[in-house]
Amino acid sequence: MSDCLFCKIVEGKIPASKVYEDEDILAFKDIHPARPVHILVIPKRHITSLSTVAPEDAAVLGKMLVKANEIAVAQGSPDGFRVIINTGRVGQQEVPHLHMHIVGGPDPVGPMLKRI
Ligand code: AMP
Ligand code: ZN
Repeated sequence: MSDCLFCKIVEGKIPASKVYEDEDILAFKDIHPARPVHILVIPKRHITSLSTVAPEDAAVLGKMLVKANEIAVAQGSPDGFRVIINTGRVGQQEVPHLHMHIVGGPDPVGPMLKRI
């Protein structure tokens, strides 16, 4: 996707602080970290969101989850972390290229959501 921010990061047209990369996925530091460890993991091939995934995306989505602990530990979150995938309008997804937040650090990240 020519006009997609995260595709441009994959293509090297926009800089990012990369922490892991293989042929299918890329992980880089969130530019506005919400916790001491805040990494975004994305598929290199453009997928807009969890609301547009297809059966053939299962392998890359699985890989993102399988790699999460390794990335979190390497970045300074050895005792667990939280994974968040904001999706669409209700999920308040800001960047329309599917991405998995890994948030963590030395201390617990806090309550999951504010209760209504
Ligand atoms: P979301 O609200 O789930 O779509 O999250 C988008 C995330 O992308 C936010 O946490 C932003 O801080 C982050 N972000 C936006 N632009 C960049 C960038 N150029 N490099 C790294 N992270 C970014
Ligand atoms: Zn994209």
